[in-house]
Amino acid sequence: MDVDAFLTASYARIRASAAVPTGRAAPTLPSATDLSVARSLLPGPTADEEETYLRGMGARATLAHLTDTVAPALEGHNRSGRYFGFVTGSTLPVAEAADNLVSAFDNSLQVHLPDQSISTEVEDAALRLLLRVLGLANDGETGFRGRTFTTGATASNVLGLACGREAVVSARLPRDARERGEGVGELGILGACAAAGIREIQVLTSMGHSSLSKAASVVGLGRHAVKELPHNEAEPWRLDIHAVERELQRKDIASIIAVSAGEVNTGRFATSSAEDLRQLRKLADKYGAWIHVDGAFGIFARALPATDEFASLRESAAGLELADSITVDGHKLLNVPYDTGIFFTRESLTLHAVFQNPNAVYLSAPGSSSIPSPLNIGLENSRRFRALPVYAVLLSEGRAGIADMLARMVRLARGVATAIVSDSGLKDEYELLPVGNRSSEDTHIVVLFRARDEGLNAALVQKIQGSGEWYVSGTKWDCKPACRIAVSSWRVNVDEDLEFVTKSLAKIAKDWRDGLR
Ligand SMILES: *Cc1c(COP(=O)(O)O)cnc(C)c1O
Repeated sequence: MDVDAFLTASYARIRASAAVPTGRAAPTLPSATDLSVARSLLPGPTADEEETYLRGMGARATLAHLTDTVAPALEGHNRSGRYFGFVTGSTLPVAEAADNLVSAFDNSLQVHLPDQSISTEVEDAALRLLLRVLGLANDGETGFRGRTFTTGATASNVLGLACGREAVVSARLPRDARERGEGVGELGILGACAAAGIREIQVLTSMGHSSLSKAASVVGLGRHAVKELPHNEAEPWRLDIHAVERELQRKDIASIIAVSAGEVNTGRFATSSAEDLRQLRKLADKYGAWIHVDGAFGIFARALPATDEFASLRESAAGLELADSITVDGHKLLNVPYDTGIFFTRESLTLHAVFQNPNAVYLSAPGSSSIPSPLNIGLENSRRFRALPVYAVLLSEGRAGIADMLARMVRLARGVATAIVSDSGLKDEYELLPVGNRSSEDTHIVVLFRARDEGLNAALVQKIQGSGEWYVSGTKWDCKPACRIAVSSWRVNVDEDLEFVTKSLAKIAKDWRDGLR
């Protein structure tokens, strides 16, 4: 087989199967038929495996199966600009192209080998560009010297809690242990806590993302270590800083403060200004705590245009640069493919303390370099060149292009929120959440709402998803079903999509009233 001819033809075929047939209004979900056809054609064990199940069908027939059977049964979040489920993001064309290049070259970014590949330097360049775009490099490019790519925000939260655990426990170890360079990484959590006189490590948060609890389990703190400290009942996403101080004062307990910078149901922030972060920083320094920011999507509020329109949002995300570590998602608002997350922390020493891959001489980098080998600062050894799509997006769009893409997402979300509170047709039928939401200032990219009619409210998400024309996620708010729109695709067209969403919501409510259920 001519490899180049095969791959060229396959890229063309893949593009054709993924191309949008009807502009931006591509189907958000596959049809039931496409799903059941694909399911029926999945290979299954047979009596004579060698002749059927495991016979090997060859590259050409396999490609046809992928494009003609599997592709039509995939969901359309990267094809439609109206997929508002979860916070999925989509993929900018230049990022998709970069991702194909990553596969074509299949480099593994394990060891920094500057004479053999530019890859680790491209990776670091991408991280430094991103620090700038997010306004996290204010004290020069050294602002966050610990930086690496992960598979997503969950993985970054694991890194954040692992680094926090390392720092807060190690700081309380007896001096001789510290001088020997010992910490949790060497002694283990039980040994280190015993030596440090720590009987509990707690994670203080407000509406922390579910992955924070998962991370707490992975790094040995336990899900019960995550403590909710809501400011009050009406604003549970806000962190109660006085309660944080009370918790920090508890004896023989070490703490990690986890700031939800972008709560996933409401898009709202745990802190409301740089002053809140300054207070937290002071407390953390006084009591030896670690501040981790889960900024998966919320941190991008810092990259919005610096205009009055976005001033309140930028203020909500101000001060986050005072954190010890930060989680960023690439595959959400930055619109690069899965699996791309980013992790920043102040010192690469903390990352090394946790992730150093010792005693593998064949994996060591020559000489000394300011760029560490990725295998010593993150979870994986062999690792995809997932930095390249991020690098491509940042180069292609620049600060202004990213700001414009994010601004369009926010404008559509705010447009929908405003329509729900002010459009006479919609406000009688729907209620914007959380109650008291000032649609245009408080809305980032998430709109939370419910139908006033309880019957319609119970059916609303299914009705929208079932249309195949757009997609929203269901959630719960105040113990009742609610509907959540998250705008996260570069394809957003504010005017067209706003008209589409408001008309669709009006029609759903009218049909319900007319008994068309
Ligand atoms: C999406 C999200 C996560 C989990 O991110 P993955 O990339 O899916 O692992 C964590 N925290 C927040 C705030 C999120 O929005």
